[in-house]
Amino acid sequence: METLSRVYQRGMTTASGGNVSILDENGKLWISPARLDKGKLRPQDVVEIGNNGDAGEGQRQPSSELPFHQAIYQVRPDIHCVLHAHPSALVTFSIVEQAPDTRVMRHVYRLCGEVAFTKFRMPGSPELGQEIAQAFAAGANCVVLENHGVVVGGATPEIAYRRFEALERLSRILIRAAAIGKPKALNKQQLHRQGEAIPWERGEQQAKPLLREQELRGELCEFARRGYERNLLVTAADVLSVRIDDAAFLITPAAVDWRDLYADDMTSVRSGIAYGRCEPSDAVTCHRAIYETNPGISAIAHAHPVNVSAFSLGDVPIETDAFPESLLVLRDIQQAPFELPFESPHELAHLVSPKRPIAILANDGALITGKGLLDVFDRLEVLEATAETLIDSRALGPIKTINREAIDFLRNAFPDAYGAN
Ligand SMILES: [Zn+2]
Repeated sequence: METLSRVYQRGMTTASGGNVSILDENGKLWISPARLDKGKLRPQDVVEIGNNGDAGEGQRQPSSELPFHQAIYQVRPDIHCVLHAHPSALVTFSIVEQAPDTRVMRHVYRLCGEVAFTKFRMPGSPELGQEIAQAFAAGANCVVLENHGVVVGGATPEIAYRRFEALERLSRILIRAAAIGKPKALNKQQLHRQGEAIPWERGEQQAKPLLREQELRGELCEFARRGYERNLLVTAADVLSVRIDDAAFLITPAAVDWRDLYADDMTSVRSGIAYGRCEPSDAVTCHRAIYETNPGISAIAHAHPVNVSAFSLGDVPIETDAFPESLLVLRDIQQAPFELPFESPHELAHLVSPKRPIAILANDGALITGKGLLDVFDRLEVLEATAETLIDSRALGPIKTINREAIDFLRNAFPDAYGAN
């Protein structure tokens, strides 16, 4: 129920659409009830399916899509949770006979694999169940149903939810990207790239952290939550870090759930060694290089908001000279090839500076730096709003940028934004 409520709260299903089932350790199947307001789900509403395949007496009626849930469990013993809904971006793909191409973003591909597409069959019918089960039997974990919606499976409800969320978000990104060009898919080698790991001393910190570090842990947590609420920090590939001193910084963990992030989950990195109960994100080597190279940078976000990510999939740059806010907050945006963070973190560290705080990473969102977390968060919000504005403007007509004179005037009038550092 928790999983389905979350899907509804994040705007990925309507009040009556969508269903979820779980196969428990005793082989019992539990499924959400038919026609129940997703905003008012309670644990006692879940329907237990008996060995004869029917709901027991005195229970609500099971979801009408029960047949395909049963069919998936039959062919895939590794799957223990199945989630089905009609989120708008994936339904958009389903009505144009396409499945989103997960090969455009490394983290989505690794979480979801390639997405299967099945022909239209009547909802609730055994034929629909057969079609879907066939796709799952062939190894798919995510299936787009023509003119209908999507089904995802996972070993746990958490994995199923993550796949579902990542896929709907990717679909949104691809739709936005289609408005500005043709998204480029990554090759096999690129899809399996991994950031360089550093030694990690697992466990709670021995000594009580200094007051400064404790404050920063709280602040990092606060911005992480805010980022999740504002749909800016959501994916397992998103990373936030903040400098403690010359030799140390705090960074969010790998495979983070942005909704449930606590101060103690943050990993501290001192002189190249990670300390904490969570493994640090694999972006840790890049963050370290940036802090070492740029004393003026004290916070970094690597984020994948929808519109910024759409730009990162193609060659079109995010222009900042169309309105003053983007000009002054974002400054000149850098572009980095996909391989750079993996092959040469130090080169990437030299690409950004307090004067050029942002780099768009090919097929990998944006790297945003600043003198503190508020600075970075503000820039992240302005960057996503700018990207959204630029894409939306395409439906109306060509962009008129601010004239050169006005740009020079603004840069002089706000020297802090274009400071000498
Ligand atoms: Zn449906």
